[in-house]
Amino acid sequence: MIFAHDTVVAMISAVELVNSAEEPDTMTEIAQLDQFFVTHAYTGTHARDDAELAAVRAQRGPLRALLTADRDTAVELVNEILAAHHAVPRLVRHDALDYHIHAVPPDAPLDVRIAVETAMAMIDLIRADELGRLDICADQACEGIVLDLSRNRSRRYCSTACGNRNAVAAYRARKR
Ligand SMILES: [Zn+2]
Ligand SMILES: [Zn+2]
Repeated sequence: MIFAHDTVVAMISAVELVNSAEEPDTMTEIAQLDQFFVTHAYTGTHARDDAELAAVRAQRGPLRALLTADRDTAVELVNEILAAHHAVPRLVRHDALDYHIHAVPPDAPLDVRIAVETAMAMIDLIRADELGRLDICADQACEGIVLDLSRNRSRRYCSTACGNRNAVAAYRARKR
């Protein structure tokens, strides 16, 4: 199963945003939101102020609920988000990007665009019955979300840090 480019990009950024709430919180400053915006090649409105940062931070709880929901609940949440923001999907081509879907205008607030883009991406995962691509980190102390869009589904940890910590623990356990 190959997902469309915009689906992959939206899922990766949504997971990173949700995981930024894990201790230590890595979305507490405008500079961190700036970095997130650049890393995930967002376009459109970016206010760079405290209100925008607060609004994006406030999306993390609802997005976590969406990404960890069972299929029927995820459908309800997706439909709610699309209705709440009057999403109207349209095909657009801009910058270096070939045709992809925007469902809200580029001047919609960043937190709204993130919510709607995540909902649109979740439509693909739900229709393909591929919500199993989302899981909670295998590290016992971590609640981070793992997104695995690879063919062989080998990812178990949300980050390299979690992967390394568990590899070291497993190595020590074998030596004992
Ligand atoms: Zn676009
Ligand atoms: Zn983790």
